[in-house]
Amino acid sequence: MAAIDDLPPLREVIATHGLDARKALGQNFLLDLNLTQKIARTAGSLEGATVIEVGPGPGGLTRAILSLGVKKLIVIERDSRCLPALAEISDHYPGRLEVIEGDALKVDFAALAEAQGGKVKIIANLPYNVGTQLLINWLLPPVWPPYWESLTLMFQREVGLRIVADEEDDHYGRLGVLAGWRTQAHMAFDVPPQAFTPPPKVTSTVVHLTPRDNPLPCDVKKLERVTEAAFGQRRKMLRQSVKALGGEALLAKAGIDPTRRAETLSVEEFVTLANCL
Ligand code: SAM
Repeated sequence: MAAIDDLPPLREVIATHGLDARKALGQNFLLDLNLTQKIARTAGSLEGATVIEVGPGPGGLTRAILSLGVKKLIVIERDSRCLPALAEISDHYPGRLEVIEGDALKVDFAALAEAQGGKVKIIANLPYNVGTQLLINWLLPPVWPPYWESLTLMFQREVGLRIVADEEDDHYGRLGVLAGWRTQAHMAFDVPPQAFTPPPKVTSTVVHLTPRDNPLPCDVKKLERVTEAAFGQRRKMLRQSVKALGGEALLAKAGIDPTRRAETLSVEEFVTLANCL
């Protein structure tokens, strides 16, 4: 396939800048620019879009996003060793790439988007150690619809299954309820371990999420309380697992059979339960 830009191959970039992958930073790099373009395309048309990428590393996904015509790409990278490689990409796409050095968990994404004057798309091959927490932060901003128009994220397949799971599914839990409540989520495609350098132990998957316009009204904190309690003891009947929150009385108020288990409750029923707290 044709090259996506005139920059050096990623292997050369990694060698030139001494970017040996560090496990503590969740570094598993994608070196195939056609694959990174496929991930970026999962976000829909990027022509004229504003995008935020977490963890650009040596810049494989970054280059793919830029090659698809974004107006502006903001990247947040914790590893300062990657900054010279990212500066080279920035020189190649003048005025379109902004690099923030720092911990994405501490970044105010809503403020970043607001400073750009509109909604952003978030695209990332996430560091596994912080991926789930970042997703929860993006799912639970106080204002909804949120500052982002889509999330296109690489996770371990196991986590992807939890995000898209519905009731009665083995992977259904707190993450599935939160994602199902506020978004429509689907797994786009799997990426095998050997696509990464170094290869992780497990298969990865790209998940695409878009915000629901009108999620059922519910207090986020209450929803978190009921899902934590219910799935904290997922094999127990609800009358036991939500005992500390009101047990049978709470379930009666919500019209939910107390002998059911957490994994059988739909997102709508969790919302009803939370609203009865
Ligand atoms: N995007 C690159 C790719 O696809 O090849 C690298 C992906 S690698 C799985 C994860 C990247 O996230 C690494 O570059 C790592 O340094 C960075 N990272 C790890 N923890 C981070 C954090 N808390 N905030 C921002 N970046 C982080």
